[in-house]
Amino acid sequence: MLLGRMMTQPLSIGSLIDHAARWHGATEIVSALTEGGFERVTWGAVADNARRIASALIRRGIEPGDRIGTVAWNNRRHLELYFGVPGAGMVCHTINPRLTPEQLVYIVNHASDRMLFVEKTFVPLIVAVRDRLTSVRGIVLMGPRDDDAATALPGLLFHDELLAEGDPAFEWPPVEETAPSGLCYTSGTTGNPKGVLYSHRSTILHALFANQPDGLAVSAADSIMPVVPMFHVNAWGLPHMAAAAGARLVMPGPRLDGESLARLIDAERVTMAAGVPTIWMGLLAALDAGVATAATLRRTIVGGSALPPSMRAAFRDRYGVELVHAWGMTETSPLGTVNAPLAKHLDLPAEDQDRIRNGQGRPPFGVELRIVDAEGHVLPPDGQTEGELQIRGHWIVDSYFGQEKPALTWDGWFDTGDIATLDADGFMVIRDRSKDIIKSGGEWISTVDLENIAISHPKVANAAAIAARHPKWDERPVICAVRRPQADLTEAELLAHYAGKVPRWQIPDRVIFLDTLPMGPTGKIVKARLREQHGDVLWDEALAALASEQAGQGMGRAQD
Ligand code: AMP
Repeated sequence: MLLGRMMTQPLSIGSLIDHAARWHGATEIVSALTEGGFERVTWGAVADNARRIASALIRRGIEPGDRIGTVAWNNRRHLELYFGVPGAGMVCHTINPRLTPEQLVYIVNHASDRMLFVEKTFVPLIVAVRDRLTSVRGIVLMGPRDDDAATALPGLLFHDELLAEGDPAFEWPPVEETAPSGLCYTSGTTGNPKGVLYSHRSTILHALFANQPDGLAVSAADSIMPVVPMFHVNAWGLPHMAAAAGARLVMPGPRLDGESLARLIDAERVTMAAGVPTIWMGLLAALDAGVATAATLRRTIVGGSALPPSMRAAFRDRYGVELVHAWGMTETSPLGTVNAPLAKHLDLPAEDQDRIRNGQGRPPFGVELRIVDAEGHVLPPDGQTEGELQIRGHWIVDSYFGQEKPALTWDGWFDTGDIATLDADGFMVIRDRSKDIIKSGGEWISTVDLENIAISHPKVANAAAIAARHPKWDERPVICAVRRPQADLTEAELLAHYAGKVPRWQIPDRVIFLDTLPMGPTGKIVKARLREQHGDVLWDEALAALASEQAGQGMGRAQD
């Protein structure tokens, strides 16, 4: 007897763009152009162009599974590749243009990219490394024909010409849902970057489950501004979520300073945005300066590094914008947690609600979290115990690109390299990266806590806490701080700001004022560089102090 059966269809990125085109075809995609000005198209046009690009690539001999690199900002053409390349069964490899030329060469060769799509701004970067890109058979300028670029890169193709020769009626070939669809390399602050190969299935499941009411909550009524670049973990899945939900997209292009973003939010009536905390620091300053009102902006997803609680309060109290804290990694597609309260939290006093909302949030269905000690023993989720954060689920890496060996623990979890607490409701708080945490006399000090306190000082524009080598305590905290323009903050004033906020032994030993903090390719502070430059500030004087302390004790004993 036939028991009955449900349909089975592969979860595919081609079907996702088909949905956006069929039911939200007139919904607008606005892109800020690199050369200035704006361009308006629709999901319908993006879908047609995705098919055109796919068919043009196939005609040029590109095969299923081949990697197609992109070096581009957030805009319409990039979106066409996001859907057209995997739609045709190929892999869209988004490359961070802020990498060093050496890293770029390494990544393109390691991925064996067959073709590169490049925005005009990055042509000089590609010209400089072209001879070292061993696998690349063709380079495409993301724009119309351009004679200067064609002279600089002989054989250059043009995105708009590929569109013209492509077929808008092209039918997506069948794909296995577990087939690869996208590739993104980790930022590789230590060692070589590693490639994470997303599948159609992992991408679609991420787009669905990370976009629930307690998740990113993207709806058809939203105008979404992904400030997080499309080369940083799929712009956190927002292009896919927007296609599934039928949301309007406002792509900011290359100008990510606070003033440009503030004006864009008002001009395009943006309701939701996403990006790293440094971006929102710039936006806050622009709003405070009266550049725009952000009246339509209701919520902003903040992740990539810890959201300073003072910034959450400032946006909420001054502009009515809710900053939603989220956590993730390149290896986790990226959404691992999003902060949304439970029913039992809603009646808590404001301070308690704030404490919960300042953390990184809880996992959506589809991923699981645990914390373990150094030996791998699972620790209690009591909200207090700190341990190494591990994750598993439908959109978490199994093995890195080109590596046979799984990147997992013996029992199938991915070790994030983050130190966190976890409570019984799944609320997770990142205490630090395990390589950044300060180990002072055998006790851990969270750099996140020290930074949040520094940033809450009204005269501080930005701050990073680092471990400085110390002969007695192994490491002691040092704060590298950037003053606000025209602020006359002293070291003593900033250190006094810590009183009562952390135990005394956690108060930094030193403040180093800098003009800027070194920023990595995804807008995060490069603490390794700060440690290289300032990690020895305490050493010599601490050694001298220790010597005189010991001499004093010696004399004391001699006197006994
Ligand atoms: P990436 O793969 O470049 O996106 O970096 C992932 C790392 O960024 C994580 O392992 C964390 O250390 C850090 N990170 C991401 N989101 C947060 C957050 N909300 N708070 C603190 N650290 C974060």
